[in-house]
Amino acid sequence: MIFRPQTCRLPDRPGESFIDEEEIESLLAEQAGASAAEVDRVIGWAMRRERLSLAQTAVLLGAPGEVRGRVIEAAERLKREVYGNRIVLFAPLYVGNRCTNRCAYCSFRADNAETVRKTLSRSEIVREVEALERAGHKRLILVYGEHPAYSPAYIADTVRTTYGVRTEPGGEIRRVNINAAPLTVEGFRTVREAGIGTYQIFQETYHRGAYRHYHPGGRKADYDWRLTALDRAMEAGIDDVGLGALLGLHDWRFEVMGLVRHTNHLEACFGVGPHTISFPRIKESSASLPAASPVGDEDFTYAIAVLRLAVPYAGLILTAREPAEVRDAAIRCGVSQIDGGTRLEIGSYAASPDTEAERLGSRQFAINDSRSLDEIVGRLTADGYLPSFCTACYRRGRTGEHFMEFSVPGFIKRFCGPNAILTLAEYLADYASPAVAAQGWAAVERALAELPPEAAAQTRERLERIRSGQRDLYF
Ligand code: SAM
Ligand code: SF4
Repeated sequence: MIFRPQTCRLPDRPGESFIDEEEIESLLAEQAGASAAEVDRVIGWAMRRERLSLAQTAVLLGAPGEVRGRVIEAAERLKREVYGNRIVLFAPLYVGNRCTNRCAYCSFRADNAETVRKTLSRSEIVREVEALERAGHKRLILVYGEHPAYSPAYIADTVRTTYGVRTEPGGEIRRVNINAAPLTVEGFRTVREAGIGTYQIFQETYHRGAYRHYHPGGRKADYDWRLTALDRAMEAGIDDVGLGALLGLHDWRFEVMGLVRHTNHLEACFGVGPHTISFPRIKESSASLPAASPVGDEDFTYAIAVLRLAVPYAGLILTAREPAEVRDAAIRCGVSQIDGGTRLEIGSYAASPDTEAERLGSRQFAINDSRSLDEIVGRLTADGYLPSFCTACYRRGRTGEHFMEFSVPGFIKRFCGPNAILTLAEYLADYASPAVAAQGWAAVERALAELPPEAAAQTRERLERIRSGQRDLYF
């Protein structure tokens, strides 16, 4: 048993609101300043890979400064034991920034005259995807503003276009996730049929008052419509969903509780929790309102460690919003997916830097990690990680793999490790610079040495086939 959804004050019913602010606030108040012994008890629970309850999460969130080290150390250990040293790599592709909402932190908001509006045409999407494939990417997340022009049919079309792009030598996008505004059940069915991987949407803040403050207009002003988006996605058959909160709008502890409460809701209503959780911090943009509750680096890393322990089966995503130093520390304590070589100006992957697209003012916010994918792969392998471009479970129909990694003994050694090695090998053979390739092949050897003999032999056999030109081999 990896989760036991709890009964909360508001019952968990599909399509109904479930956040009770008083419940979250009183738990946080009750558990503030928890003792080392209480924190250790909760850590023990998490180390048995049980999803934590709201009260247990509040204990970790309330731990005094001197006890935090234990939590971070436990998160690092859990991450090592469960995920090993794999880090999944992806890139965001902003498709269009037209938007009818007025989110006060976002440059795309409807009332921001400074933003140059742009929507990629089909041929521009192809050019962007070609450039991403030539950098070595296999997994993308397509991102859209909220606008009638970005209808479910349009989104589905952009997903299909992306899957259809091929480049030499073996370039193709094998998993397309989306981050788009909430749809109706019917709309979600339309995008599911295009073969999306994860549907990701961030609640931004789980606190109604803060939500109202930052979302003064447009469809997104409706807190409940957004809160129940993933319920409709699930009803439409998308059982691979990503949660998120935009840190800085309200107290970060409240948001972590909100994410765990949302997790409980999905487990209770649909028998499946989130595939991923994101926790972007607000970054510089042409915002109309400042961040009311900015989160410092220390609290940010701690929030990640708490989430790692609270929902051990979910992938944790950290993006290039964060500078390289913060990302490197965050990876240690729980992050499992990062983006690489990210560009946010719409249409800028295919353009050379400094050209028109970079100056257009069409991006949503400033990124702080501008390293290329090659540099990221180099850094990860130098630090002992195993970069992975794996998309095997999704394509083999092993949906719910984030649960299998926990519940099926040996799953990681049989599938995830070998597939990480094979996809990294493709990257090294086709796209890496000579220095990164040398380092990467050493990482491949280290990873092979950690596999059981039979899995290592089967992986070596496939590696030989990759060296002789075959592509897309997976278990
Ligand atoms: N328009 C859709 C929506 O709002 O859900 C999806 C795309 S939106 C471009 C993706 C996410 O970017 C938002 O959910 C928000 O959390 C994040 N975001 C917006 N402005 C930001 C900022 N200034 N800094 C960091 N993240 C930001
Ligand atoms: Fe539009 Fe999304 Fe930006 Fe809000 S966060 S203004 S909905 S693009």
